[in-house]
Amino acid sequence: MPELPEVETVRRGLEPYLTGARIDRVTLKRKDLRTPFPEGFAEALEGATIESTGRRAKYLLFRLSTGRTWLSHLGMTGTWRFEDFKFKEPSRYYEPTEDRKHDHLVVELTHPTHGAMKLIYNDARRFGFMDLFTEESESPYLAGLGPEPLSNAFNAAEMAERFRGKKAPMKAALLDQRVVAGLGNIYVSEALWRAHIRPELPAGKLVLKSGAPSKRLEDLADGVRKVLNEAIEAGGSTLKDFRNAAGDSGYFQHNFAVYDREGEPCPTPGCKGVIQRIVQSGRSTFFCPVCQH
Ligand SMILES: [Zn+2]
Repeated sequence: MPELPEVETVRRGLEPYLTGARIDRVTLKRKDLRTPFPEGFAEALEGATIESTGRRAKYLLFRLSTGRTWLSHLGMTGTWRFEDFKFKEPSRYYEPTEDRKHDHLVVELTHPTHGAMKLIYNDARRFGFMDLFTEESESPYLAGLGPEPLSNAFNAAEMAERFRGKKAPMKAALLDQRVVAGLGNIYVSEALWRAHIRPELPAGKLVLKSGAPSKRLEDLADGVRKVLNEAIEAGGSTLKDFRNAAGDSGYFQHNFAVYDREGEPCPTPGCKGVIQRIVQSGRSTFFCPVCQH
């Protein structure tokens, strides 16, 4: 499932081709993905120019010249790709989708530099969805989202306000989208490992009596930023040319420190711990019982 860094990598790949492009024609191959396409979706896009290609949490946001914003969430298996672009070299981070029967949306575009292009949305499991709105407050997906983890709005002091007195375990507290937007299961495990914090620790323990963040909470905020930035860099370094390198905006697997590494040695220097897996709120958490406390 794509998390924030994968979505950001997709955004960076699409941006040079979409920003400034005019949408000529939109063809829906079906009426719905996870939810129905918005009423009048194709008509609202056709004729508009994409002014910017943004992201909020795990949502891609294409800002249109009409003042509306087209939102795309990739769900579990959603991918964007350009048709007819050849693969120059195989990429270890991208798995191209060849199964055309899962092509659900075709967007024909004209870009001032790149010319005519066909952008295709493919989604085998159809957990992805699209939305269209004028103001962000109109979109149920964006309302109530906490700060972007890579923006200045995300910091330990903000987290301390949220965590004060909370008995919920760190894992659950960090997955709360009001605390930090777009952080998912994989990168929560990674950030907690980096900050040496045990995932079951009650969140309130990282807040001082005064309500100020503890040093450990500062480390955690820093850990969140670092794991996300490194993952984005890893994705971005493979993305020299979105169309030619891959032709597809699939997902990549990083070398995670703890995620999916049950039974392997902990990568913290000097630590003799072995990575364990526990289940919290029905989802796997990976951590080192020795250096995370
Ligand atoms: Zn360890």
